[in-house]
Amino acid sequence: MKDMYQNAGIMPEVYNFCDNIVKNLEERFKAVDEVAEYNQMKVVMAMQANKVSAECFHSSSGYGYDDFGRDTLEKVYADIFHTEDALVRPHITCGTHALTIALSGNLRPGDELLSPVGKPYDTLEGVIGIRPQTGSLAEYGVSYRQVDLLDNGDFDYENIKKAINEKTKLITIQRSKGYQTRPTLSVKRIGELIQFVKSIKPDVICMVDNCYGEFVERIEPTDVGADMCVGSLIKNPGGGLAPIGGYIVGKKDCVERAAFRLTAPGLGKELGASLGVNQAFYQGLFLAPQVVSGALKGAIFAANIYEKLGFEVVPNSTESRHDIIQAVVLGKPEGVISFCKGIQAAAPVDSFADPEPWAMPGYDSDVIMAAGAFVQGSSIELSADGPIKPPYAVYFQGGITWYHSKFGIMMSLEKLVENGMIPREKLA
Ligand SMILES: *Cc1c(COP(=O)(O)O)cnc(C)c1O
Repeated sequence: MKDMYQNAGIMPEVYNFCDNIVKNLEERFKAVDEVAEYNQMKVVMAMQANKVSAECFHSSSGYGYDDFGRDTLEKVYADIFHTEDALVRPHITCGTHALTIALSGNLRPGDELLSPVGKPYDTLEGVIGIRPQTGSLAEYGVSYRQVDLLDNGDFDYENIKKAINEKTKLITIQRSKGYQTRPTLSVKRIGELIQFVKSIKPDVICMVDNCYGEFVERIEPTDVGADMCVGSLIKNPGGGLAPIGGYIVGKKDCVERAAFRLTAPGLGKELGASLGVNQAFYQGLFLAPQVVSGALKGAIFAANIYEKLGFEVVPNSTESRHDIIQAVVLGKPEGVISFCKGIQAAAPVDSFADPEPWAMPGYDSDVIMAAGAFVQGSSIELSADGPIKPPYAVYFQGGITWYHSKFGIMMSLEKLVENGMIPREKLA
């Protein structure tokens, strides 16, 4: 095995260091496997209950009326998330789009949106109008309020209570930390927050941005009171096979309002040709629990490696996991760059590309991104990115298989050692 990795460019010191780490992760990995097994059963049973058949993989075109496979897949999603209804479509371009139709479909002029968990994901700033943007919810007369988490990561119940008023229509809870260093929320904590909000205002719609969280635990936010859960199919639930798409699951009327926004009022879910993607959606969903478990093992592996080498890692090496993202604080620009070069060098696609930091639109510093994916931008596939600004943290996620994730992380360490960021002696 050492020879194989050496052929791939991993020096023996790096191999030995990583091998020792893996040996101590048996218990952690066993727990990850158990969750995957549970979720695999959940998915298979939902497919069986809805009599998924070869007919479901047929394609439709044009209006897409009576697309049996599309409609059955939505029933399967609804069963997995234990919701009344689901919207699972290739016409949903990405996670931001899914969140946009969930929000704009369910909010009306004069309503207020509340985030009780701090600032939402970057791309939502324009959607909501936190940052001025043509077409934002703010332009349509939807106001926004935010309550930050307390310094210790707890919910600020007192100020959340004060922030809820007669206009509050929908609260948005982001499960994953995204590109922040706050802790990711467990489903249990999300449930506690929803219960609190509903005790103050029972008819408020509780929506969860579930990106990167699907199948990490045995339960999903819709099992603890969320009215709507939203995510991307080029993250966890697409299992690496979905070439595009997003989903919204939840209460029938919430999903319907979102569907009226996706297509048109009155048309909703009735339309939308599947254009041949049904099989990939089904098969990706079938594989998703296993794929997520591989990504989780990679994240745990990396946390243990980099923590042992003295870097701050979020989550740390022993914490429980509620999403697949791992942050490593490398402290220097060259650290972030080396890490990303390693991830790129380990990719099955575009491994020869050399990522460089650049001024990406929408970011206030240069950003470096590493991805060598079968599906463009897919972040259930092994990928990493980091803004070139203090504290010089890199965020990485994914890996369709544990072995690939492992190779990517070993290669990141290799590059950090080669570039003098970590002295070889530290690996002894
Ligand atoms: C990825 C992500 C989004 C946005 O998804 P895109 O597909 O990049 O538009 C929103 N929220 C969270 C927490 C995410 O991780």
